[in-house]
Amino acid sequence: MSAAVSYERVRDQLQRLKMESALASLDAVLERGQKEERLPVEVLDDLLGRELATRFERRVQTNLKLSGIPAPKTLDGFDFDAQPQVPKDVIEELATLRFLHQGENVLFLGPCGVGKSHLAIALALKAIERGHRAYFLSLHDLVARARAAREKNRLDVQLRVITRADLFVLDELGYLPLEQTDATFLFEVVSKRYEAGKSIVVTSNKSYGQWHEIFPDSTLAVAILDRLLHHATTVNIRGESYRLRHRRQAGTGPTPTT
Ligand code: ADP
Ligand code: MG
Repeated sequence: MSAAVSYERVRDQLQRLKMESALASLDAVLERGQKEERLPVEVLDDLLGRELATRFERRVQTNLKLSGIPAPKTLDGFDFDAQPQVPKDVIEELATLRFLHQGENVLFLGPCGVGKSHLAIALALKAIERGHRAYFLSLHDLVARARAAREKNRLDVQLRVITRADLFVLDELGYLPLEQTDATFLFEVVSKRYEAGKSIVVTSNKSYGQWHEIFPDSTLAVAILDRLLHHATTVNIRGESYRLRHRRQAGTGPTPTT
């Protein structure tokens, strides 16, 4: 078979295999192989590597879109000097995603504006960048979705969506007291993920001692905390709101009352 026929067949086969990126870079890969006198196996490696890289990038973009992350925040964009309460070494360890691979949870606790959501989003983005599926919901949205799903008898579907993600971020636990059915749904979410060995990142303005205020009964609060804390890293952030402090430093915000 002539080289020209083989070439046409390769193009056709790449197309039928839906290897768009490999097809698009075929000429460049072959040319480079010839110029650099590469072995056939090196040429193949180059071609398949390009296809996989494109697919991975596409998956990352899709996962990002589906993640529900409201505004991207990164660890690079986090000012550790401004928040000495946040242990940089602990955050850097979390950024390795070892916790995710080991199914451990992360809890960011502290008052409003200290960077809890920022850090939670940054970890979720790290996970997405590495090809994982992350799902971000505020407690308010979780409750709204659960209620809408319950009305359509699709609560199990909603539960599956949340359970399937490699990482689930539950933002703003504690701003809103939960009703019994909503609290029960949250318990199911936490239990299902716990049993599946999958991580949850929680942000809350309430300390553990105050969690019974969020839940309609303390048994449920204890049961949820039990599962969340079994394998968990807690980052307690005290201190002042990042924005307020900046505004105050700029001379346009209120001074804190003592
Ligand atoms: P919380 O969830 O604790 O209420 P956020 O994470 O929403 O607070 O932070 C409020 C705003 O301040 C966000 O825009 C966040 O990006 C920013 N922010 C908070 N802490 C820091 C920090 N240490 N460095 C950079 N930005 C910060
Ligand atoms: Mg927040």
